[in-house]
Amino acid sequence: MADLIYLDNNATTRPLDEVVAAMEPFQRELYANPSSVHQFGQAVRHRVECAREQVAELLGAAAREIVFTSGGTEAINLAIRGVLAADPARRQVITSAVEHSAVKRLTEQLVREGFTVEAVSVDDQGQLDLDELAARISDQTALVSVMVANNETGVLMDVERIATITSERGVPLHLDAVQAMGKVRIDVASLPVRLLSISGHKFHGPKGVGALFVRRRTRIRPLIIGGRQERDLRGGTEFVPGIIGLGAAAEAAAGRIGEVTDKVASLRDRLEAGICRAFPTARVFGQAAPRVCNTTNIGFQALEAEAILLLLSERGICASSGAACSSGSLEPSHVLAAMNVDPLWAHGAIRFSLSPFTTVDEVDRVVELLPELLARLEALNPK
Ligand code: PLP
Repeated sequence: MADLIYLDNNATTRPLDEVVAAMEPFQRELYANPSSVHQFGQAVRHRVECAREQVAELLGAAAREIVFTSGGTEAINLAIRGVLAADPARRQVITSAVEHSAVKRLTEQLVREGFTVEAVSVDDQGQLDLDELAARISDQTALVSVMVANNETGVLMDVERIATITSERGVPLHLDAVQAMGKVRIDVASLPVRLLSISGHKFHGPKGVGALFVRRRTRIRPLIIGGRQERDLRGGTEFVPGIIGLGAAAEAAAGRIGEVTDKVASLRDRLEAGICRAFPTARVFGQAAPRVCNTTNIGFQALEAEAILLLLSERGICASSGAACSSGSLEPSHVLAAMNVDPLWAHGAIRFSLSPFTTVDEVDRVVELLPELLARLEALNPK
């Protein structure tokens, strides 16, 4: 994969060398079960608890408020189902119209199980309608769950104002912060949020591990019942190498925010400006809203995203689209549909997501190559 230009960092990120190095001994000689009472087990337990502190530090939480999970999806399921199970009298969940499938499909399942789910709308820049959010909260609301940063557009929700609304109404708030970690500072010490989900592989940590922040005194039940691990909130022997890697990634991210995010934002802006210069009809979705530093989602008029991605891939450029292929027809993404994007542009939407590993040369190469690739497509597909 020598000449790869990897601009798909919202799908997953390259693990940092220090993450891989930190994990290695736990895949070899430090294999003890952290629940074992012998010294070997307790040595591993100590390292698991250090990783918990590293994650807590990144979020401004206390270590005992961190529950390790198998990733973002499990953390989200634990947050939503766990709160519903602890408060059976309340049957309503409020979320947004632009959530990741981890929330979207779970809430669709909850509807089938008889719960009420309200998806608050967003404006044409992808920002949540806060008046609608406030109006939908009722004495039936068990939980509000919204994302911090959108995985397709990078648009940031106004989590301070969302948290103010939910805490004034006494409703627990869960934030899906999976796409925000390492890109924006989140401090649960000053943000009145009860639960918050993160995932290792989205911020240069390992896959298959994540965490849920659960504020003290939150009423929540476990999803996975088994051993007494994770303070009884998640049964099962811990994925120790993953947890160690997550801790290392959290420590690196805490030190990186600011300087590195500015660098990534300037590369993203360079890519966006270059593409828009070459294609004046291209549209950048959510451009007027606050966004994370690394994401741009650009719609090319009357072109099919899948075809663009294939041509990019032939040249070693990894990007992505929000569109999902269902029963042979390309459905525009629910995120762009909720933002009322014209399908003529939504069908040709490409997400480029950068990282601190992205270079100026890579960005310039994409800007240089795109016109030729898109000209080939336009020739095949005259308007
Ligand atoms: N939430 C958001 C916003 C995401 O982008 C993703 C993954 O793409 C997830 C949740 C799921 O995380 P995981 O892959 O760790 O299950």
